[in-house]
Amino acid sequence: MRIKEKSKKDKNILIIGSGFAGISFYKEFHKLIHERSDIKITILSENNYFLFTPLLHEVATGNLLPEDIITPIRENFFCCTREIIIDKALYIDVLKKQVKLKKTSVDYDYLVIATGASTNFFNIKGVKEYAYPLKDIHDSIRLKNGIVSLFEKAEMEKWKKIDVVLVGGGATGIELSVEISEFIEQLKPYYKNLREEDVELRVKILNASENFIPDFPQKVRKKVLSFFSNINSKVSIVLNSRVKVVEENKVILDNRKAVNYDFLVWSAGVKPIIPSNNLGIDVLKRIPVNQFLQTESENVFAIGDVAAVKNLEGGLYPQLAQIAEEEAKICALNIYNDINHKPKKPFLYNLDSLLLSLGHNNAIVYFKGILITGKSAWILWKFIYLVLMFNGRSKVMTAFNWISDQFSPRDISKI
Ligand SMILES: Cc1cc2nc3c(=O)[nH]c(=O)nc-3n(C[C@H](O)[C@H](O)[C@H](O)COP(=O)(O)OP(=O)(O)OC[C@H]3O[C@@H](n4cnc5c(N)ncnc54)[C@H](O)[C@@H]3O)c2cc1C
Repeated sequence: MRIKEKSKKDKNILIIGSGFAGISFYKEFHKLIHERSDIKITILSENNYFLFTPLLHEVATGNLLPEDIITPIRENFFCCTREIIIDKALYIDVLKKQVKLKKTSVDYDYLVIATGASTNFFNIKGVKEYAYPLKDIHDSIRLKNGIVSLFEKAEMEKWKKIDVVLVGGGATGIELSVEISEFIEQLKPYYKNLREEDVELRVKILNASENFIPDFPQKVRKKVLSFFSNINSKVSIVLNSRVKVVEENKVILDNRKAVNYDFLVWSAGVKPIIPSNNLGIDVLKRIPVNQFLQTESENVFAIGDVAAVKNLEGGLYPQLAQIAEEEAKICALNIYNDINHKPKKPFLYNLDSLLLSLGHNNAIVYFKGILITGKSAWILWKFIYLVLMFNGRSKVMTAFNWISDQFSPRDISKI
């Protein structure tokens, strides 16, 4: 059985994925076709929601609730859609112009692959077993539960110190390390033994190379290092520390040194999610696209974390939400132009603004060479994210929870 037969002249644009790339594509394309009845969009996604990943670390540390950063797609993105299908794309058949699902298949005239990426454990022994990743909403709930469980154990056993290790010095590793250190300090008063023992907290970030937060300019890196030496000295970054094996309570590095941990977080990178295909594409690598975001197959485009989009220097654009959104805009225009026999536009983007949160009252905002830090950056950071969120309810709930966080402690329930 196939999903909904369509009339021959209708064009069906199938988007796989409801993340930053998929939903931004929908929003942009919808604007272009709103008045047309001959073009319709089908959204196919494993999740029935859009997830605002830049605030995942706040859910993982009790500042925000999972619902604050989730937008149901059926509620918000249905206009001009032919169908919304909540299922997993298993196989892309470019010859038949069809995407296979478990029990059925869906036809397309144009396909937009926006399946994103998943945590890359690099096949390192022990990582999946012992470490907590942070990529989706379930990870954030598990991570918070893990920290609270750690505290329950430490309370029972009257620990004198807690060692938290984060592997990966990207933006997620840095932001999360500061939030975890603040979360743990805020948990202490609720645990009699830990308060009395005045338990010592150490948070260590292990980064494989010298280049932590590689997408950020050098002056941001310097600010982060100075923040860790002067403001939050509980957190430290250890560079050139590549993890070889993970054991219970111990990480072994390439240089054979061991780093002990009580709680381990894995934020060392992602790998693309590519449904198996006859596109001639290696499912372990990002999908190569040309400057118009088109794959080698006719009418198949790829955008977001799953796509390998070359920049002017010949490197690849980083896997960031803001890049995914911009690619989506160009891809929507290119498909619309293609339908209307007009020329396509190349994707060019100058990554000149970046945000990094550094816990309570601190952040770094980098905008066209200007660096803003401290409380003003923190307020600006929050304001920018509220504007960027797609859904009114999420904006209100997030703003409300941020305000209440100023006066009340974080949520410490284990769910
Ligand atoms: C913790 C964290 C913090 C981040 N912070 C920032 C930040 O501050 N700024 C920034 O710019 N970027 C940030 N990023 C990166 C950003 O989240 C990604 O670049 C962005 O989500 C990429 O968008 P995407 O649409 O390509 O993928 P995603 O947002 O991951 O969406 C992929 C979608 O595809 C669906 N899907 C996957 N496989 C299938 C399948 N087989 N069938 C059907 N559906 C499928 C998924 O359900 C999902 O809806 C962060 C990432 C993480 C993990």
